[in-house]
Amino acid sequence: MAKSCYIPESLSEALEIRAKTHAIPLAGGTDLMVQAKKGIGITPTFPSPIMIITNLKELKGINVEEDGTLVIKALSTSSEIADDERVFYHIREAASRMGAVALRNTATIGGNIGNASPKGDLPQPLILLDADVVLLSSNATRIMKLDDFILGAKKTALRDDEIISEVRVKPVKATHLFYHKIGTRRANAISKLSLSILADVEDGIVKDFRASSGAAGDKVKRSRKVEQLLIGKRLDELVPLIPDFTAAWDAIISPHAMPEYRRNSTSRMLSYFIEEIARGREGGIIS
Ligand SMILES: Cc1cc2nc3c(=O)[nH]c(=O)nc-3n(C[C@H](O)[C@H](O)[C@H](O)COP(=O)(O)OP(=O)(O)OC[C@H]3O[C@@H](n4cnc5c(N)ncnc54)[C@H](O)[C@@H]3O)c2cc1C
Repeated sequence: MAKSCYIPESLSEALEIRAKTHAIPLAGGTDLMVQAKKGIGITPTFPSPIMIITNLKELKGINVEEDGTLVIKALSTSSEIADDERVFYHIREAASRMGAVALRNTATIGGNIGNASPKGDLPQPLILLDADVVLLSSNATRIMKLDDFILGAKKTALRDDEIISEVRVKPVKATHLFYHKIGTRRANAISKLSLSILADVEDGIVKDFRASSGAAGDKVKRSRKVEQLLIGKRLDELVPLIPDFTAAWDAIISPHAMPEYRRNSTSRMLSYFIEEIARGREGGIIS
């Protein structure tokens, strides 16, 4: 008889089980257990067998490779990510604001991506930074842009024989950084909206400009087309471009609830950031 729960001890064993049974990976369980709950005192049930992956050493750890690429393995918890100074600013900020301490000690990056909630906090900065996600099966490795991997609310391109093994972020040059999450409280609250922005300014010219919005539609919103409105511009050209930029941003975000509040708040934060760099503010974190 097929088992209802597998607890592999190695990645190769896990991939074999996944290929044969399509068992659902369970990491921290902070999404899966909530989704499967049946009521107080009743054992949760799952539509297919589950596979507890917490013993897989191969999926643990955070490293920086020789070329500066940051590698965050799938079982890294939000606390581990938030506490690691090698991790890019926006990712650390997002990780440090997820839930309360107990949740952050359990919730994993693989689970946050695998759950693909539009309100999940980690995809937003990761998409800003063009992160790749590595997907392993027993006979192949696929590497996809996270932006392409997340298809929509709770939908990913994960195949039923695959496991997320790691997230990879190449070095990104930036002079000015901004991260903000609006929730009911500072932490332990699901995002009402979140926004990451970065700019790279050199000799008075905007060399790079990126922004990504969380909880702003069916998935994280980022638009390279809208970003191009500011890239290559001189600082003294920026302020007159703000109305066009924020209008274009308004058009790409599609909040399912409180659209006016979400659009206005996002516009105000974007305008503030652009005004600050336009007035020649020294590089660093803008808050
Ligand atoms: C009280 C509470 C507060 C919360 N607050 C926040 C918050 O502020 N911000 C936020 O973003 N989230 C929040 N969450 C949601 C949740 O904690 C996060 O999404 C968390 O990162 C999920 O990670 P996990 O390891 O617990 O995932 P799990 O529940 O184990 O898995 C989630 C999904 O990902 C899949 N999965 C997990 N690991 C892998 C893998 N390696 N390969 C393939 N698929 C995988 C699972 O099959 C499942 O579909 C909260 C949840 C609770 C209960």
